[in-house]
Amino acid sequence: MSQNFDALIVGAGQAGPPLAGRLTAAGWSVALIERKDYGGTCVNTGCTPTKALVASAKAAHTMRQAAAYGLPPAGELRVDLALVKARKDAIVAASRTSLEAWLQQLPSCTLFRGTARFASPTAVQVGEELLEARHIFLNVGARPASPALPGIGQVPYLTSSTLLALEELPTHLLVVGAGAVGLEFAQLFRRLGAQVTLVERNPRLLPHEDADVAAAVTDILAGEGIALRLGAECIGLAQENGQPVVHVSCAHDPAPSRGSHLLLALGRQPNTDDLALEKAGLQADAHGYIPVNDQLQTATPGIWALGDCNGRGAFTHTSYNDFEIVTANLLDHDPRRVSDRLPVSAIYLDPPFAKVGLTETEVRAAGIPALIGKRPMTEVGRAVEKGETQGFIKVLVHAETDQILGASIVGVGGDEAIHCIITAMYAHQTAAFMRRNVFIHPTVSELIPTVFGELKPLAS
Ligand SMILES: Cc1cc2nc3c(=O)[nH]c(=O)nc-3n(C[C@H](O)[C@H](O)[C@H](O)COP(=O)(O)OP(=O)(O)OC[C@H]3O[C@@H](n4cnc5c(N)ncnc54)[C@H](O)[C@@H]3O)c2cc1C
Repeated sequence: MSQNFDALIVGAGQAGPPLAGRLTAAGWSVALIERKDYGGTCVNTGCTPTKALVASAKAAHTMRQAAAYGLPPAGELRVDLALVKARKDAIVAASRTSLEAWLQQLPSCTLFRGTARFASPTAVQVGEELLEARHIFLNVGARPASPALPGIGQVPYLTSSTLLALEELPTHLLVVGAGAVGLEFAQLFRRLGAQVTLVERNPRLLPHEDADVAAAVTDILAGEGIALRLGAECIGLAQENGQPVVHVSCAHDPAPSRGSHLLLALGRQPNTDDLALEKAGLQADAHGYIPVNDQLQTATPGIWALGDCNGRGAFTHTSYNDFEIVTANLLDHDPRRVSDRLPVSAIYLDPPFAKVGLTETEVRAAGIPALIGKRPMTEVGRAVEKGETQGFIKVLVHAETDQILGASIVGVGGDEAIHCIITAMYAHQTAAFMRRNVFIHPTVSELIPTVFGELKPLAS
């Protein structure tokens, strides 16, 4: 016997739950299927727990800086990771349980626990249940990738998910991979008191970002005593004397890195391999993503893919925006598209790195006639007052149209301040518009109009 619904939603990540809310409010009957934790990656193993840990690490860091603020030294700081974890777990649990309670009270929404697999283009199997609908929305997310590194089978290693369960501080954390996840964990564990070695194949951090961004981030991490092993080609893993070892072939330093714990932060893999996509007439691409069009429809009519599983974004804000695009098209007669959104992101180092639009490197490569404005945080009053002067604000403007092309902020408050530029860019506004605006003193944001007032030609 099958059960029929107007819509099936597979996965309760960042798009599935709000989609269930909108569809049921529109009178649809909905089945929402989740195999693990409501809220998915962001709430349980991604944004929420890591940003809670970043906050604890920042507090520890500030305590160690007491003398710099004219305060008596706080003495030796010994972090009890179990207590830090308990704080993080409470924040995560509150978020997850409130989401679950909200889902349970949605009218005409039935929650199923288990793994959904396609039985046909209009049906999925969940355990013994066969669920059918004319509309199926996939929000299945991604998981940490396990690349085929030499020796990986012989070494116990942590992922971004399992590291969150540690109750004792590693004495020496080896982090392989310097993407956003690797960088955030490296800094926060260093601040909590672990020795940290960061091993990265590329010769510099953040190879897709501008060189000055990478240099600022490198200074921040190296300045906190994180050992950086960059340009580490041919990473191999081993277990020696009960401890993990990372073998690298660095031209300048081929010695292996030894530590007490090993975190592999080598990207994420979409959860599409056990969906039986072929039964729905679908095929994942070479990276496991489900191909979609600009309105997130898959190749099979009636099936949509939202969030990390479609390869069109890898953030909570892109997954949520996918929900908005789908409901705008389905319910609001508003033809919103993925290509309408600006590329925006942040890495939650302290200070953070946030960006919107094109980088300086991309502007140069595209040959766009451009102006550039840049101000170090040492010349931002609010940053000086806070004693946090690392980094800079940088903006890029089209030399002929005055349109804003992009911005990068490495610096205190940058993750918030960038939003005035994001909003202006979304409104297709100009540097002149930014210059005329009055911002509140003293803030980091108040210097943004100043930076737009100090534009110079971008030297070729
Ligand atoms: C350590 C870390 C830190 C991060 N920090 C940030 C950040 O600061 N800002 C940011 O924007 N992004 C961050 N991200 C990324 C962000 O968490 C993801 O982009 C976001 O959660 C993706 O949401 P989603 O809706 O696509 O899927 P997910 O949140 O991954 O949800 C997918 C859900 O589907 C379920 N599921 C999968 N397959 C099935 C199936 N067959 N049947 C039933 N259920 C299934 C899963 O159990 C899961 O609950 C971070 C990620 C990590 C790992």
